[in-house]
Amino acid sequence: MKSDFSFEIKIVYDDICAAQPGFLTDFGFSTLIYNNLSKTHLLFDTGSKGDILIHNINKFNVKVSEIKKVIISHNHFDHTGSLKEIYQINHDIEIYVPLHDIKSFIRTYPEAQVQGISEMIEVDKNIFSSGQFGGRLTEQSLFLKTEKNDLIIISGCAHPGLEAFILKGQTISNKIKAVIGGFHGFRNFSFLEGVEFIGACHCTQRIREIKQRFSDQFNDICVGNSYLF
Ligand SMILES: [Zn+2]
Ligand SMILES: [Zn+2]
Repeated sequence: MKSDFSFEIKIVYDDICAAQPGFLTDFGFSTLIYNNLSKTHLLFDTGSKGDILIHNINKFNVKVSEIKKVIISHNHFDHTGSLKEIYQINHDIEIYVPLHDIKSFIRTYPEAQVQGISEMIEVDKNIFSSGQFGGRLTEQSLFLKTEKNDLIIISGCAHPGLEAFILKGQTISNKIKAVIGGFHGFRNFSFLEGVEFIGACHCTQRIREIKQRFSDQFNDICVGNSYLF
C-alpha cells in the first residue's frame, strides 16, 4: 500500500451496489476513515443495523475499540442506527452531532462524550465538520483536506442541498477533488465541474443522470471498497 496518502476512506455501509465478497450491504450510509496524518480511525455515520456495520468494520481488519471519533451527519436512523452498538463496545468514543440535535443524543447517551457542532470546526487533523446546515432538519458534512490541499467532501444525505456544502468547502480549499456520499435531490450539476472523483450513492435521487453526465469521473461506491487520497 502506498504510504504517501493523507486519508483512506473505507465504505462500510451502503445500499447502491453489490458489496465486495464477504461484506454486507444494507440501507443506510457509513464510511470508516483512517487519517494518516494523525494515525486515527474515525467513523462518519453508522448505517442502520449494528451487526452489519460491525461485521463490515471488522472485515477491514479494524476493531470498533480502535475508532476514536464518530461524526453523525444528521439524526435519521439510516445514519444513526448503529451508534448504540458502537457505543456499547467503545465508551471512550467522541460523538460529534449537529448542535440542533444534541439534546436527543445526550438523552440517549447521558454518559458519552457528545459534542454539538454549529460552526465549521476541525474535528481531527485536517478533517473539518462543515458546521450545521438546514432548518428543522440540520446536517453536517465532513471536509478532508489532504497534504496537497485537495478537498474531499463526505456527505450523509445532503438534505440542506449539496451545493451548500460544496460552497462551504470552497472556503478552505479551491480544489475539490472528490465528493462521496448521499447527494439527495441535487441537480445543479455545474457544481461538480472539475471534481475528479464523483461518488454519489445512498439517497441520491438522480444517480443515473449523474453517472451519465460524469461518466469519466463517476465511481460506484460499494461496501468493501476503499480509496486513498
Ligand atoms: Zn440517509
Ligand atoms: Zn436523511
